Amino acid sequence: MTAENSARSTSAATLYIDGAWRAAALGREFDMFNPADGSVLGAASDGSASEARSAVDSAAAAFAWWSRTTAYERAAYLERAHALMLERAEDLAVLMTKEQGKPLKAARNEVRYAADFLSWYAEEAKRVYGATIPSSRAGHRFMTMRQPVGVVAAITPWNYPVSMITRKVAPAIAAGCTIVLKPAEQTPLCAVAVFQVLHDAGLPAGVVNLVTTSDPAPVGDALLDSPAVRKLTFTGSTEVGMMLGAKAAHTVKRVSLELGGHAPFLVFGDADPRRAAKGLGLVKFLNTGQACICPNRVFVQRELVDDFLNVLVQRVSAMKAGNGLDQDVTIGPLIDEAAMTKMRRQVTNAVDHGAKVLTGGERLTDPRLPGGRFFAPTVLTDVTPEMDIYHEETFGPIAPVIAFDDEDGAIAMANDTAYGLAAYVYTENLSRALRVTEALRFGIVGINDINPTSAAAPFGGTGHSGLGREGGPQGIDEYLDTKLVGITL
Ligand code: NAD
Repeated sequence: MTAENSARSTSAATLYIDGAWRAAALGREFDMFNPADGSVLGAASDGSASEARSAVDSAAAAFAWWSRTTAYERAAYLERAHALMLERAEDLAVLMTKEQGKPLKAARNEVRYAADFLSWYAEEAKRVYGATIPSSRAGHRFMTMRQPVGVVAAITPWNYPVSMITRKVAPAIAAGCTIVLKPAEQTPLCAVAVFQVLHDAGLPAGVVNLVTTSDPAPVGDALLDSPAVRKLTFTGSTEVGMMLGAKAAHTVKRVSLELGGHAPFLVFGDADPRRAAKGLGLVKFLNTGQACICPNRVFVQRELVDDFLNVLVQRVSAMKAGNGLDQDVTIGPLIDEAAMTKMRRQVTNAVDHGAKVLTGGERLTDPRLPGGRFFAPTVLTDVTPEMDIYHEETFGPIAPVIAFDDEDGAIAMANDTAYGLAAYVYTENLSRALRVTEALRFGIVGINDINPTSAAAPFGGTGHSGLGREGGPQGIDEYLDTKLVGITL
């Protein structure tokens, strides 16, 4: 915290513990900045380890009775939260654009996606079924019960600051768990707005708790060290996810990790190059390239490269960067200077090793937005495995294009990564589509499709992209233990 911050009078009360909004001890706060212009947007309470422990106590006390409510009662709260979120959708979307930077249209889409988790898990709460299992012994039966795991610690990133919260909170409370959530330090105000929805939906005290902080490690440690917390659900970088997963092992917590990605986008010679280039332009530059499912390596069969690049470069150079609240803006700012430094380093390194910049490649300056961090949407060609961008998650608006000659070579390059989240295949040949999909070591594959996500469908990765699934029936399994019951008649 800066001296300027500590001297300011307390105005933020953004810790939500035991059903009440609280300021942090000693009135500690931290500021939020609009990444489009650098202006101060507001302040959040700077929570500490002791406040995280209070939040765990509150969640543990609530679990004792919340876990015994009926699925129908829990569903009713979620339905109310869903309706309220949609009522407030426009305010939430505007706040998201200001705090995180994505264009308003994309923010509106995210709010709808976020609300979907509330309604979908309201229904799924009622479908938590056990089983009866035939026994080999006469006069004996087996059955299974599925019960909530307990108090959940949730840690979320800044890039989807509303939907990453409901994707965890909705299945957790549908299952009968209680939760303590620590949002990213860049986007706590979005988290506060989501928790206000949950509060106004009437969720009882202690069921959901929020600890905003500028210093994630002590709060994270307090959550992970607590034996009362039985589950960690984390979305963020692979590096942090690995560290938190190791800490969670000390108290043998259940763990779900949604981590980084390095998605391949494969365009075969039989694909429609216009359709593929349009798809790439949309999904690569989604959220300014700051999405875990953004393609990071674009493999195009050699005979199609020129046609594909013509369309792609035309589309990408027509994109307009700026403040996401301006109507014609399609590319928002990068979240921070570290991201800007990474974009520049990856482009310089690629060019030094022989890549060509077909469009973009540099920081954009807008005299109306002197504090903004805009990087021009970029297409690189002649990219090779010697370059950093071939191996590293970019998390920004750079599309590196790599030519390939045959299917086996394309699959080998696509799988040449420790990550395994999303992959995309463009082809008009059904047999090839299925063959390649089976060979890709990724948790999600889009076949001529750039939007393989839904509250109803299991989202998640393999390898260094994580453990577990969010969305769909698999998403609630993450918050349930299976109890085996043996019965002698
Ligand atoms: P990050 O790992 O830096 O931060 C994510 C969260 O972890 C934040 O809340 C942060 O405060 C917290 N954190 C950081 N250090 C911590 C510590 N020592 N203890 C406890 N908490 C800590 O990641 P980021 O830069 O915010 O997000 C971008 C990354 O997230 C990318 O790698 C992206 O691919 C990934 N991501 C993955 C998915 C997915 O579903 N797989 C979705 C969105 C983002």
